[in-house]
Formats: sequence, C-alpha cells, structure tokens
Amino acid sequence: MSSTRLSRVLLALFVGVAALVVVPIATAPVAAADGCYTWSGTLRQGSSGDAVTRLQIRVAGWVTSGEVLTIDGQFGPRTAAAVQRFQAAYGLAADGIAGPQTFGRIYELQDDDCTPIHFSFAEATQNCGRGGFSGGAVSAAQVRENLLRAMWKAEAIRHKLGDRPIGVSSGFRDTSCNASVGGASNSRHLYGDALDFVPGPSLCDLARTARTSGFSGIFGPGYPGHNDHTHVDSRGGRSWSAPSCGI
Ligand code: ZN
Repeated sequence: MSSTRLSRVLLALFVGVAALVVVPIATAPVAAADGCYTWSGTLRQGSSGDAVTRLQIRVAGWVTSGEVLTIDGQFGPRTAAAVQRFQAAYGLAADGIAGPQTFGRIYELQDDDCTPIHFSFAEATQNCGRGGFSGGAVSAAQVRENLLRAMWKAEAIRHKLGDRPIGVSSGFRDTSCNASVGGASNSRHLYGDALDFVPGPSLCDLARTARTSGFSGIFGPGYPGHNDHTHVDSRGGRSWSAPSCGI
C-alpha cells in the first residue's frame, strides 16, 4: 500500500468515525420517544401542568367504582392512586410516581395520534358513514378530545377483561345521524364522550367493568334498546342501568 493510498484510507476511516461519533451529536435533534407526546422527568403528587393533564387522561380508566378522575393538571392523591393501579396492572413497580417506566408503557400503548392502540378515531367516528367530528352538540375540537378520553377509559376496560378485543359500533354522532338512529335528543353521542361496545367480552362484563373505569353513564342489557350493546359515557352525575347484569 502506497503512502498516498494509506493516507486516503486513514482519511476515509477518520471521516467515517467522525460521521458516526461527531455528526449525530452535533446536528441531530434529540429524538422524541414517542410520536404523540414525550414526557420528561418524573411526575408525582404536587406536580402540575400539561404533562399531568396528559397523564391523567391515560390513567383515568384506573379508578375505584363510581369514581371519575378530574382531568385538571393537578397531580393529587387520586391521580397517584390511578397511576398506582395502572402500574400494577401492567407489571410495573406500583409507587404512584410516573417516571420513565410508566411513560415507556404508555408509549407502547398509544398511537402517534395519541389514541390508545386498540381503539381509533375512525372506528369512533363512523357517524352514519359520514365520519368527522363536526355537527354535534360541541365544537369539533371538543368532540375529538372527548373521544380521546373515552377511548383511554375503554383501553383500561379492555386490559381488565384480559386484553380481549372490544368492538365499537357507535361513538360520535352528528345531530342528523343521532336522529336517524333514534338517539335521545340530548344523547352523549352528540358530545363524543359516549361509546357503544359490542362483544368481545360479554355485554355484562363490559357494563360491570365500566363502573371502575371512569364512566358515569352505563346502559346495558335489560335497559330498553340496549340488549345488543353496552353504552358508556362521561355525563355529569351518575346514571347506570343494566338490569340483566344486576346493575
Ligand atoms: Zn350509546
């Protein structure tokens, strides 16, 4: 090997090493851990802000019977308890403090549009074949947010029932779609916070489990018009009825 050629090889090696070691550090931005949202640091009781709000939405299905977690960006004892139940359910150390392991599990559970992996906006906005988020009782942005929150609670139900698939036959409905399917004029489907589940798990198991998953409205078998689906929603005030399931 000539000295000229040797120096070319050495230069190539140097450039290669520089490209591997120096360039990525110097020019590449820090990669986000997740396409939806990336938490940094640790959240615990006393934490507050948008990072807490986003966490609360994802653990709101992990509450006690009849409890509805307040999504307010304030990490209090109820948020800590919900985080603890989420951690225990997914095999993590259940300390009620959200750190890299908890966030890592959430990243695995969510899609880039922030929906949980087993539910989708497409499924929840069939809307009599028209799709979309518009034409309901609240703004399209609010409908979208309400659907997102409902789907995270549904994801909790799914995991509690052994990770069996749950179908959604109806989610958001605009005013004319709601009327055409005979929905109540004040139906929560107009707000996007209601989902109608079909089996998978039995309709009664879905109704029972919804009680500990943050749903204040539950209607299932034995309630008029609900023998072929279980309806869940997040209305103000509790209203549950599924007589055939003992609810
Ligand atoms: Zn319904």
